Amino acid sequence: MAVVSACLHGIRVPILLLMCQTVQAEWFSQQQSIMGTVVTVELHHAEPGQATRCADQVFAEMRRIDELMSPYRPDSEVSSVNRDAGIEAVRIGDELFSLLQQANDFSVLSAGAFDITFASIGYHYDYRREQQPSQNLIDETLPAVDYRKLMLKDRMVRFASPGMRIDLGGIAKGYAVDRSVELLQRCGISEALVSAGGDSRILGDRGGRPWMMGIQHPRTAEGLALAIPLANSAISTSGDYQRFFLRNGERIHHIIDPDTGKSANRSWSVSVIGPNATATDALSTTLFVLGAEQGLALIETLEDMDAIIIDSEGVIHYSSGLKDPLAERGENRQKAVSGRQVQE
Ligand code: AMP
Ligand code: MG
Repeated sequence: MAVVSACLHGIRVPILLLMCQTVQAEWFSQQQSIMGTVVTVELHHAEPGQATRCADQVFAEMRRIDELMSPYRPDSEVSSVNRDAGIEAVRIGDELFSLLQQANDFSVLSAGAFDITFASIGYHYDYRREQQPSQNLIDETLPAVDYRKLMLKDRMVRFASPGMRIDLGGIAKGYAVDRSVELLQRCGISEALVSAGGDSRILGDRGGRPWMMGIQHPRTAEGLALAIPLANSAISTSGDYQRFFLRNGERIHHIIDPDTGKSANRSWSVSVIGPNATATDALSTTLFVLGAEQGLALIETLEDMDAIIIDSEGVIHYSSGLKDPLAERGENRQKAVSGRQVQE
């Protein structure tokens, strides 16, 4: 982790193009700014030239997925869906169709807490300009936030509600991380870490030892709430501190509760750990909306999935599959992070 953080510490504001490269023994680390976030590839390889080529494949793949799925790029496939699917069914490629189906599966699983049609209303928020939709606009637009009105059939997509839009921001980075890990495996790599913003996947381990993955303290910019050892797993964190502004003491942030059209307010931060990043990405967003009680109930029904939820009072909740470091020390299982930095 030392090499990554040396690069990451310099980054506090969005940077258009960032490249940072460090070669240290046989571990190779490279970062680029893609998909509106920092993409990090760390991999173990005996030959630096080959390591660079493998990492370059990852960055190229991330760019390709961004070009396909970004709602901000007018020429992306998602933008053409947003433009035309309200008028007529739009034929899309297999890859996007498959990810839309996976997104739909998470909507069904969570009874709509995860819903890519959140964008019908989410599109009216601008966090950089500190703009949010009026209650009237929310009331008008909310009927279009409904995954059941997103019709998917025979590689075609159609919006059955006027004003509907989609945005894969809650699942596409995890998907891109999974694709990247597949590429690295084909490139002959067996130990690596790929991260895109809050979504990471670890291939193998770090020289026989697990990676220590830090979970950011949701209210202390520089601090960690806790760190957990992981190998051969994915971890995604969704937090209300990532893109937000404050208005009359209220935190207006980028994860929208489809029931209200407003920022979800039951959690500060949710991390989900599981075998692949597409699922952990979608589930971290899902559990963030659901909050600790419903979120943990959902995660307990899923095999191989675990979660750490910091609720809106700063209390940390663990799913039953996680070995609780606090319980091990005989302390209370739940611990507040509110107002101070906790380093487990
Ligand atoms: P993450 O950081 O993975 O939790 O994803 C947050 C992103 O997911 C936001 O920036 C939106 O693009 C998208 N999003 C927000 N609310 C929802 C929701 N209720 N369901 C699905 N995606 C969402
Ligand atoms: Mg997510």
